Amino acid sequence: MRARRLLLAVFLMAALLPGPGRAGTRLAALALSQEEGATHLSFELPAGAGHRLFTLEHPDRVVLDLTGAASPSEAVPPPVGLVRSVRIAPHSATVLRIVLELARPATPHATRVALADGRARLELVISGTAAAPPRVRELAPEPTRALVVAVDAGHGGDDPGAIGRRGTREKDVTLAVAKALAARIDREPGMRAVLTRDGDYFVKLFDRIQKARDDHADLFVSVHADAVGDRSVSGASVYVLSTHGASSVQARMLAEHENAADLLAGPAFKDKDPVLRTVLLDVAQTQAMSSSRLAAQRVLHALDEVGDVRHSAIQAAGFAVLKSPGIPSMLVETAYITNPDEERELGSSAYQTRLAEAILAGLRSYFHDYPPLDTRLVAQGDSEHTARLR
Ligand SMILES: [Zn+2]
Repeated sequence: MRARRLLLAVFLMAALLPGPGRAGTRLAALALSQEEGATHLSFELPAGAGHRLFTLEHPDRVVLDLTGAASPSEAVPPPVGLVRSVRIAPHSATVLRIVLELARPATPHATRVALADGRARLELVISGTAAAPPRVRELAPEPTRALVVAVDAGHGGDDPGAIGRRGTREKDVTLAVAKALAARIDREPGMRAVLTRDGDYFVKLFDRIQKARDDHADLFVSVHADAVGDRSVSGASVYVLSTHGASSVQARMLAEHENAADLLAGPAFKDKDPVLRTVLLDVAQTQAMSSSRLAAQRVLHALDEVGDVRHSAIQAAGFAVLKSPGIPSMLVETAYITNPDEERELGSSAYQTRLAEAILAGLRSYFHDYPPLDTRLVAQGDSEHTARLR
């Protein structure tokens, strides 16, 4: 009994601490010094934290975006050397940003040294040598494009999808969530949504995929609500195309559509040797599949924070709507319309909004770490990251 009370007290204390500031995730051992013509910044990162380094101009700044890290409890060191000021503040719900304003242009170089328990020390050396550093402009240089997300509201028109005991129709829920998601995507800088349907009408699966392709979508998200005979079953699931489905689709595409290659890589691809074409198609599909899995993982994680998740792992299936060659795709079963509690939630605009926000959070997290080249997100990023993507 006493042990339980103690446990409760510990839990309450943990809950009362400000969320992002839990001791275990704070930056520690911050030091800023000037040695041999270079300015050194070092600090300890908590286990699992990620970093991204880039520079900005007007004024010259070195920026470190950290994920999985919270502001240090200790004071920020006073500026020295090339560094004119140091700011540390949350940049978004998931990113802690360190901005070092510089007295003049300089080249930053970061080294990550592994410490015990998965922690790491990040050592940043900023040298003011004459060598021109590869610079990233704050305003994205042209040409860049917005990142496009195709948002697919499942069912519609004559096809109501699943219907709950209280009469809630899947096609209405999917449209409401899809519209809420698209509106939020459009508000994100550098992102744009395309809806495969924006009203209550029927759209063939192939036309949904074709629309995504015509709009050069970087990602395809199909929104659905699940149904099953057992009314106690609840929770969200996220599906990606299974390997088996992918390979059979690929085989069928090669057989049925001579222009299958065009769909993936454009006309330059057409003259290639048939064997090479098959290989390239396979590569494009495999890359899209691994991207699908990475993106789906982030969305599933975000949905887990909103409500119940049926499967804690990504599910693989051969849904026709997921078979967009070259476009990473996922199908989100938001909840069970056959479950009385979830049916009620699915019908409420508050819950629809929360689902949309969770899916967006997952997409944002995915695109932050894996921005497609040539998009504004990459232009804002660092060269080290871009190099890794190539
Ligand atoms: Zn459905």
